[in-house]
Amino acid sequence: MDFNLTDEERMTQDCSREFSEKRLKPVAADLDKKGEFPSELVAELAGLGLMGIPVPEQWGGGGLNTVAYTLAVEEISRSCASMGVTLSAHTSLACDPLSKYGTDEQKERFLRPLASGKKLGALAMTEPGAGTDLGAASLAAAKDGDCYVLNGAKVFITNGSVADVVLVLASTDKAAGSKGLTMFIVEKCAPGFSVGRPEHKLGIRASSTTELIFSDCRVPAAQRLGDEGHGFRIGLGALDGGRIGIAAQAVGIGRAALEVAMAYAKERQQFGKPIATFQAIQWMIADTATELDAARLLYLRAAWLKDHGARFGVEAAMAKLLASEAASRAADHAIQIHGGYGFTTEYAPERHYRDARITRIYEGTSEVMRMVIAGGLLK
Ligand SMILES: Cc1cc2nc3c(=O)[nH]c(=O)nc-3n(C[C@H](O)[C@H](O)[C@H](O)COP(=O)(O)OP(=O)(O)OC[C@H]3O[C@@H](n4cnc5c(N)ncnc54)[C@H](O)[C@@H]3O)c2cc1C
Repeated sequence: MDFNLTDEERMTQDCSREFSEKRLKPVAADLDKKGEFPSELVAELAGLGLMGIPVPEQWGGGGLNTVAYTLAVEEISRSCASMGVTLSAHTSLACDPLSKYGTDEQKERFLRPLASGKKLGALAMTEPGAGTDLGAASLAAAKDGDCYVLNGAKVFITNGSVADVVLVLASTDKAAGSKGLTMFIVEKCAPGFSVGRPEHKLGIRASSTTELIFSDCRVPAAQRLGDEGHGFRIGLGALDGGRIGIAAQAVGIGRAALEVAMAYAKERQQFGKPIATFQAIQWMIADTATELDAARLLYLRAAWLKDHGARFGVEAAMAKLLASEAASRAADHAIQIHGGYGFTTEYAPERHYRDARITRIYEGTSEVMRMVIAGGLLK
């Protein structure tokens, strides 16, 4: 077993860490406060080649592996969890399925500009009546000549207001249920496509989360991703990969919380000594560090399996389950270690606490992760 990173993995990690420290850390709290999507910073990330890390070089990506990509998500999320999910949704949920299922024409037209970061991607599956039960998606796609006409709405779409290209799960055969779902590549300029209301969120406030509306939206048949009826499989596959990215995001958030907690514990004096000298504080730090390390090893294992063409769904679910719950505990401990100051917006732990919370919900809730893990073990 080799725990060493390759040169390319280490370089990607270093590059992301430097960008994160220098460009994101100083502004993350302000972006959160304003709820502002940082377009210029995304463009800078693209300039560093970080928006298409695992996309094959042939299509304009970095040609690196999932390990390198997820290490980058962790580093970026350590400073700015909003940027972490922007990167993760773009890469895992839009680039990855296009890479896997797109025709060469689709890859040339849609994947190449996404991989370079010139354009931003999103995956739209959730509907008001279809959240965990994605197979119940009802946004309708009716064939009309050489087009499909899409009608319906999607909710909670990451990058919704800023994406140029959105993969949309739609029903081409209502009677067939989840087997009648098909994935489409929709451009933001498509007639009948519009961005609905933005969500006002507890955390990851500098990321875009919006409703998307499809009103007689015409999509050329050439923009169907995969075959009719294969959309559900494509979507679930994207989520499997996405969960590794969210696990990495969660570890990044948890690490940020741990780091500020340790710094504060060394500095804050009570009873004439730093609170870091009290065993109660040390145990919180020890538990947090142990859980985050375990979570990192789990997401790296899932990434490694994906890179080696092995099944990784259960391992990705384990990684997301542990990492998201560990990040929430890390942020909670960071608040506790900061005492009353931790409860104020002046100090970082409350942002990490809010940011960590979503990682237990999106791309499958913790309950769903347990279902996936148990399902895999018991079959
Ligand atoms: C900030 C944000 C960003 C998002 N980004 C995207 C995106 O980019 N694309 C996209 O398509 N979606 C996105 N989502 C949607 C997200 O994936 C869903 O919110 C999530 O999957 C849960 O669905 P739901 O909200 O409808 O909850 P529900 O499915 O209604 O679940 C409610 C509760 O019931 C539980 N539950 C449901 N079914 C079961 C069951 N069978 N057994 C046990 N418990 C169950 C759930 O675990 C949860 O606790 C995003 C959501 C948010 C908040």
